[in-house]
Amino acid sequence: MEDTEFTGEWITLDAQGRIDVPSNPNVGFIEGDGTGPDIWAAAGPVIDAAVLKAYSRERKIHWFKLIAGEKAVDETGVPLPEKTIDLIRKCMVALKGPLTTPVGTGMRSVNVALRKLLDLYACIRPVKYFPGIPSPVRHPEKVNMTVFRENTEDVYAGIEWESGSEEAKKLARFLEEKFNVSLPAGAGIGIKSISPEGTKRLVRRSIAYAIQHGLPSVTLVHKGNIMKFTEGAFRKWGYELAQEEFGERTVTEADVQMKFGGRTPEGKIVIKERITDSMFQQVLLRPEEYSVIATSNLNGDYLSDALAAQVGGLGMAPGANIGDHAAVFEATHGTAPKYAGLDKVNPGSLILSGAMMLEHMGWTEAADLVREAVERTIRDKIVTYDLARQMRGAKEVSCSMFGQAIIEHMEEF
Ligand code: NAP
Repeated sequence: MEDTEFTGEWITLDAQGRIDVPSNPNVGFIEGDGTGPDIWAAAGPVIDAAVLKAYSRERKIHWFKLIAGEKAVDETGVPLPEKTIDLIRKCMVALKGPLTTPVGTGMRSVNVALRKLLDLYACIRPVKYFPGIPSPVRHPEKVNMTVFRENTEDVYAGIEWESGSEEAKKLARFLEEKFNVSLPAGAGIGIKSISPEGTKRLVRRSIAYAIQHGLPSVTLVHKGNIMKFTEGAFRKWGYELAQEEFGERTVTEADVQMKFGGRTPEGKIVIKERITDSMFQQVLLRPEEYSVIATSNLNGDYLSDALAAQVGGLGMAPGANIGDHAAVFEATHGTAPKYAGLDKVNPGSLILSGAMMLEHMGWTEAADLVREAVERTIRDKIVTYDLARQMRGAKEVSCSMFGQAIIEHMEEF
């Protein structure tokens, strides 16, 4: 693992807006705070080993370090320096550990700021079961879904005013006078907005993913029966996008029933829709019927964590935040500060996020090697403390030894 700056070449975008990855790309990494350095020290070598094994010396990632969070405050006085943002824009692909949002900086969250500033509009969470991991459900192996959560809109945009504030009072008066809408006295107010552009770019990415991975369906998850002009509009614009841009490749579930006798025409992706509350039941009762999920911000937040819990792997869940110009792959858990520096926690989430990053770069052979080696290591019951405490007969290893065990399993292929 190298820590030198810019020894490789830059990733670029081609005329169609697709990323063009040289064989020696500069890729940024943010170690993260708390246990970030522990998991990074285990994850980096696994990713490098997979690239080496897949492509000999023909391809190599040239890592360079970026700072954010506590380290950035120590070195620059701010949690998210402009230089970090500029360099992620330049390298277009980065891998990050968890970050603490330092208290009292006036910033809601470094992670949210990163997503906003880089317009990383799609939060992507693949959820798949690894055999051997204890799960609260009877058939976790039936779960194999990828959640596309809109990342920039909805009630999450942070447009809200505190109860009793001048702004809340003013807005309540305005609503009363202009729209004859009265709010309960002293209500805090938040604004939910969902736009056609925000919806369509998210749904576009989810259908493109289903096509690329040969998956059978994309399900639009919304609460449009109640919130008609935001969640309901998400559904409407989602269907429109599927028809306008992928009409040849998609068919609606309703058409499958009414026009094709319940049989999906060969080569078509079925566009389904589910109301959010029903979807929470569906993923428990009939998970095998769902593969790609496209949904709004709040729904996606809840659903992706619930799904990760269903496969028993909250600590192993990988994630990515992707925009049209940059992509940041990240461990989905927090900094777990009480374990910082103990070489103890599970680096699985960052390692599997690294596999997503390799796939995004088109280095699918290396991505597959990482996933396969993680699966085999867990199947052999070599795990960190968090999984060991739930598994019978497990061999508990440290964070770094888990990384080493994954590399050793990779060598066996
Ligand atoms: P957390 O750091 O995720 O830790 C909560 C608990 O989850 C830990 O005590 C540990 O449970 C378990 N855990 C987390 N990561 C693990 C790992 N890699 N391996 C094994 N177990 C793991 O959540 P938090 O304590 O609420 O948040 C701490 C800080 O992280 C906060 O500053 C928060 O803002 C930040 N955060 C950052 C991100 C991000 O950067 N994406 C996300 C969430 C939170 P046990 O103690 O039971 O072993």
